[in-house]
Amino acid sequence: METSTELRNRIKQWAIDAGADMIGFAPVERWDEDNRVPPDFRPRALWEPARTVIVLGVSMPLPIVETTPSILHKEAYDTANRTLDALGFNLVRFLVRQGQPAFFFTRDGFGSLRLLKERPKAAFGHAMAAWYAGLGTLGVNNCVLTPGFGPRVRFVSIFTAAVLLPDVMIEKDLCIKCETCVKCCPVNALKMREDQFVGDYNIGACLEHHIELTGNKAYPCGICTKVCPIGKDRLIFKQKGILKKYLQEDEALKANPEDPVYKNWTQVRKYGTWNKDYPR
Ligand code: SF4
Ligand code: SF4
Repeated sequence: METSTELRNRIKQWAIDAGADMIGFAPVERWDEDNRVPPDFRPRALWEPARTVIVLGVSMPLPIVETTPSILHKEAYDTANRTLDALGFNLVRFLVRQGQPAFFFTRDGFGSLRLLKERPKAAFGHAMAAWYAGLGTLGVNNCVLTPGFGPRVRFVSIFTAAVLLPDVMIEKDLCIKCETCVKCCPVNALKMREDQFVGDYNIGACLEHHIELTGNKAYPCGICTKVCPIGKDRLIFKQKGILKKYLQEDEALKANPEDPVYKNWTQVRKYGTWNKDYPR
């Protein structure tokens, strides 16, 4: 008879072989113990047999994210979403083949920005699931910051009736409150809070901006994920003085849309999607 450790190891191996960049396990009790997520949005409210939530993460390549808003960023984002949905769907089928009941919650969980504007919440939040599964901590930009990729990761959650060994939650906040995300948000949708790491988030302003970007085939914005200094992916791409470049980008491109410092990003924004004057 297979132990829960053996099953957990096989799930991890399956996820790595299937292309996930990270995987974490959260017992459903964490939602009740922490008590931050309203009861109707917890795993057992959505699917009663759930005992463990398995969260899979797919990273977004930093140099692509840096071109946002652009057709490259849009296509990478859509590909990450399709990859997550395939991972979630296929892991459910894998678990069922092992005799384990399972269920998954698709990576976004809303049909359109218009619908999200009317009711600005999904039935299940992957950010909290990723936090409970030990994959990262929440930052001022309201995203999960991970040690490997900062906030440049997207998540999907799979619920199973199997009781599996949980991952330890990360205790130390990864957000350093540098405020770069707040300063670079094009619609001032983020505000620092002294009393907590998660900043105030004006979802209405962010959504309006996304509706405009969608019409121009340059969805999503993602600037608050691009500029966050957290993540080992920055070491891989060996960037120097990059925060200054991010912070000056808006002003520099308003003064000169052809500024050579930003040429590799503006070249991508200029073609393939409509952009007012190809600043971000
Ligand atoms: S996605 Fe863009 S508009 Fe929304 S909060 Fe982040 S930087 Fe601001
Ligand atoms: S950019 Fe700075 S303040 Fe914003 S989430 Fe990242 S570390 Fe935190």
